[in-house]
Amino acid sequence: MPLLTLRSVIFETEKVLETRQHAQPPLLVKDRDSGVEVLLKVLRIRRLGLLVQEAGSPRPYIVWDPLLRLHRIDYARVCRYHTGPPGKPWEHTYCTHIAVGREGYCRSHANSAKALYEKCAQGSESACNQAYELLKGEEFSVYVLDYGGSKVKVGLTQEWRLIWRIAEQPHVAAAKVFTGGLREARGLEKKLGRHRIATEGVAVRVKERMLKAAREVERINSEANRIAKRLASFIAALGFSGTFEAYTILPMNNRPTEIVKAREVGVGELELELLALSDYWAGRMLLETMKSKVTIDKNMLLHRLLDAMVSPRRE
Ligand SMILES: [Zn+2]
Repeated sequence: MPLLTLRSVIFETEKVLETRQHAQPPLLVKDRDSGVEVLLKVLRIRRLGLLVQEAGSPRPYIVWDPLLRLHRIDYARVCRYHTGPPGKPWEHTYCTHIAVGREGYCRSHANSAKALYEKCAQGSESACNQAYELLKGEEFSVYVLDYGGSKVKVGLTQEWRLIWRIAEQPHVAAAKVFTGGLREARGLEKKLGRHRIATEGVAVRVKERMLKAAREVERINSEANRIAKRLASFIAALGFSGTFEAYTILPMNNRPTEIVKAREVGVGELELELLALSDYWAGRMLLETMKSKVTIDKNMLLHRLLDAMVSPRRE
């Protein structure tokens, strides 16, 4: 068995429907404002893969429809640093060193722009100030995400990662409300996060949000207009006007509630099993074994040193 590291869950999508919905501006600003229009695209995963890096080699490759057998899970983490063209992680060069410290980077990348940006996104102001300088010229987006609760979540991501970022969290639909430099994007995220209808994500427990979002998103085929209109109303209430692109990313074959309700396992329970990666939603990988379907948070499996085999499934 080779030593390898899974770097990313990769997918391709197809558009299943699209709707355009409008919300009026809040009463106070009605006379000088035209409200919010949301163009919601509902995408379904049509092909699922894993980005695999063999130990010692900086260049990863994609295995589509993967079968996975984990012989031994080493709890060492591999440095998460990588660099290359935006939006094409499979063309990136990945660090081959073992990570030190909680952030998941090796010594030489602990203060890289990528590491500082992540610390910034988690709320470290000093990291933000360094990241603003190092990431000048890169595009970031602020998004507003409806998870089916009474508030929306406001988040920040690299512009090209928006679809991947939405797919890795429980969501009904999410809209991009700003694209620009990191300093402006972070400033807007903080400002919106203080709004009474928004949260930066800490207020509501993930598990709770996951089930709520899963139940709600399952209605999207028949209720896309209502879902898009609700998102437009949230965005209008946050003080925006204009047209905004929004996305929902649906799993491939399974209902979101099936993925959320499947038995959650830890990495240790997966040793020696033959696993098929059969679906993905809200950052949860649905794995089929000979006996059952189980789910695992992708972060439990990614960036670890594994003694494992990953091969494409043969039909
Ligand atoms: Zn490194």
